[in-house]
Amino acid sequence: MDEFARERRQMVADQIARRDVSDPRVLDAMRAVPRHRFVPSSLLSQAHGDFPLPVGDGQTISQPYIVALMTENMHLSPGDHVLEIGCGSGYQAAVLSEVVGPQGDIVSIERVPALARSAGERLAELGYDNVTVVEGDGTKGHPGEAPYDGIIVTAAAPTVPEPLVEQLGEGARLVIPVGGSWFQELVAIEREKGGVRKRHICGCRFVPLIGEHGWER
Ligand code: SAH
Repeated sequence: MDEFARERRQMVADQIARRDVSDPRVLDAMRAVPRHRFVPSSLLSQAHGDFPLPVGDGQTISQPYIVALMTENMHLSPGDHVLEIGCGSGYQAAVLSEVVGPQGDIVSIERVPALARSAGERLAELGYDNVTVVEGDGTKGHPGEAPYDGIIVTAAAPTVPEPLVEQLGEGARLVIPVGGSWFQELVAIEREKGGVRKRHICGCRFVPLIGEHGWER
């Protein structure tokens, strides 16, 4: 086992399994994805720390625990078709890719063109062939490939964007941070026959979701 794989096992044991994430597929995915490949090389020594890291353009790669917690709360199965808003480094998309497996697929939207390009290249290089990175405003979702078995938003929204709820399949979940610009509530919204059910997960802090159904800037 290489040094990074050893660090990831430690990261999962200390920061994730020890807290409240227990889905074995999520824990396996967190052990499998080479997180060090998604952080700037100057921050390599901190790649597995219990905190978010800057990835350029004022954006961040989320703390490992938050990535695992959000993924678990999506209740995904192998073969699922998933939408991510806020591709950033591509790390969360890679974790989702591992969870849904080769029969599943991820569409990940990013509004900053430079990030969309580098994340797409990185994911292709690492062999995550079932992830498609799309540049654009993810607050509108990606209706062309709806409905989705799960939608995850990794930037903070002032309110839940209605197009995302509309693009959820029945029984599918939307996991999203909602609230002010400094502090938000992470919620899971499940689409049921004839309505939606909303569940609180925890408090959190994300960079803003900017777009038509998000913040203005
Ligand atoms: N999931 C990422 C971290 C995301 S940080 C990772 O694993 O690295 C949040 C990202 O959301 C930033 O890259 C930001 O540019 C992007 N973002 C903000 N508003 C957006 C929008 N309307 N559509 C798509 N991406 C958006």
